[in-house]
Amino acid sequence: MIGLPDTITACLFDLDGVLTGTAVLHREAWKRTFDEYLRSKDGDAFQEFTDADYSTYVDGRPRADGVREFLRSRGIELPEGSPDDPVDAPTVNGIGNRKNELVLKIIDERGVNPYPGSVRYLEAAQRAGLRIAVVTSSANGAKVLDAADLSRFVEARVDGLVIRRDHLKGKPAPDSFLAGAKALGVDPKQAVVFEDAQSGVQAGKAGGFGYVVGVNREDEAQAAALRAHGADVVVDDLAELLEDK
Ligand SMILES: [Mg+2]
Repeated sequence: MIGLPDTITACLFDLDGVLTGTAVLHREAWKRTFDEYLRSKDGDAFQEFTDADYSTYVDGRPRADGVREFLRSRGIELPEGSPDDPVDAPTVNGIGNRKNELVLKIIDERGVNPYPGSVRYLEAAQRAGLRIAVVTSSANGAKVLDAADLSRFVEARVDGLVIRRDHLKGKPAPDSFLAGAKALGVDPKQAVVFEDAQSGVQAGKAGGFGYVVGVNREDEAQAAALRAHGADVVVDDLAELLEDK
């Protein structure tokens, strides 16, 4: 009825880019943060942060992991620093905090919109009696869910704060999704993972989940990459799963 194998009893949704249109806001904040950093380091001839950099090194991962992975791809190593570092500290955490400050400002200015197809899907999943959890690397998970009026659907939330508190490995490791299944009291085989990030579908695959839905908000290349990283099916919108086949 909702486009999933009959064995599935629980849904684990990524947040940014799957339920809400906030992934583009994150990408914008990352680009401004990294371009500013690279310009300060290399001058005006600096090599820009690209959409491909975002998809490959940053999207879906915990903030500090994203900073570290991207800088490493450019041959740059910075000290980790600490989570309380000021936004101008030349550390992994400092750059991450700069991005967080920026994305919160952008979210406040523009608001958070849930995808209408995702709201329809959440309603259908709830009606069908499926358990629902949100699993996101974002430390702002609760704020974004509330702003999008989606908290009413969510039984369990594993977000960036939980990941840090419980020392979980971030996506592409499966640990945060496994914690989501555990919070709902279901076996991973009974759960479906919904993800728009390459690192996220990879985590779903690695965790042995019953089904992995890749949500493609970009182009054909991204759809192919989601399949290559472990998606069982790729859709452009969750409502596609509700259509009669
Ligand atoms: Mg996402």
